[in-house]
Amino acid sequence: QAKKQQRTGYVYFTNNMGVEIRERVRLMRALNSAFQKNHLFVVYQPQVEISSAKAIGAEALLRWKTAEGKYIPPDQFIPIAEYSGLIIELGDWVLRNACFELKTLLKKGYDDFKMSVNVSQAQFLHPEFLNSVRRAISDTGVPPHLLDLEITESMAMEDPIFLMETLHQLKKIGVKISIDDFGTGFSSLSYLQKLPIDQLKIDRSFVNQIVDANSSASIPKMIIQLCQSLGLSVIAEGVEELKQAEALVSFGCSYAQGYYYSKPLETLMLHEWLGQRL
Ligand code: C2E
Ligand code: MG
Ligand code: MG
Ligand code: MG
Repeated sequence: QAKKQQRTGYVYFTNNMGVEIRERVRLMRALNSAFQKNHLFVVYQPQVEISSAKAIGAEALLRWKTAEGKYIPPDQFIPIAEYSGLIIELGDWVLRNACFELKTLLKKGYDDFKMSVNVSQAQFLHPEFLNSVRRAISDTGVPPHLLDLEITESMAMEDPIFLMETLHQLKKIGVKISIDDFGTGFSSLSYLQKLPIDQLKIDRSFVNQIVDANSSASIPKMIIQLCQSLGLSVIAEGVEELKQAEALVSFGCSYAQGYYYSKPLETLMLHEWLGQRL
């Protein structure tokens, strides 16, 4: 009963509610109905090895296209889904879609292709989360080590004991863990060292500035060195220019994701894009 209420996200209107809250409630209802009407879908952004420009995997990203054909960005609706509780169902749905797509790619012969899926804080904290991961894997039959769950740095700071326990359970399942948007969340390095994680994703904001004459590349350099000394893999997000990719390689970062290689693609386009790379 409580769970059901959480999912429908009851909110009452009052006269003195701010415009922002009304807008949030409106979006919340629209999102619910968009989910029911299949107006949500998943796109996939390729991840590449910079030196060979070969695809190594993709990140699943959620999209919402309204009946009027307007796209609502995830930065706007994910927080609303978190707030209303819909993210539990929605996140599970994205995970299952992504695993299904991964299975399709593996069957097609893209061996060792990895699939990254974003996990929100509310999902991670939910008691059914581990089961949801187990089920997505067993129902689709994907090798767990090819599934990469992205959590954010701020989540990693929230509840250390719970986090550690959940991460260890995920390691038992056999999935990989990445810290998304790394460098924006001020995590303690000694704490980071203790976490059973596999990869850091350098936030786009640092990659942006990497070849900018007026700013320095010291943060991405430092993150890459940190990964090397902790034995973690590192990938840069938001690579838009060849110069950025070249700089990253020279600092020792082998993997990248960004518009320079490809925007996020619908499945058919993803297959086409991958086909052209063989
Ligand atoms: P993120 O996980 O850090 O995803 C990377 C974002 O950067 C994506 O934005 C992607 O389209 C964008 N991006 C990639 N390469 C470039 C580039 O070269 N230039 C620029 N300007 N942008 C680039 P998107 O798809 O709008 O997603 C935004 C955020 O929403 C994601 O950030 C993630 O935090 C969240 N999100 C998206 N889908 C999901 C989902 O299924 N579940 C959860 N929990 N969060 C999601
Ligand atoms: Mg991500
Ligand atoms: Mg990111
Ligand atoms: Mg993010």
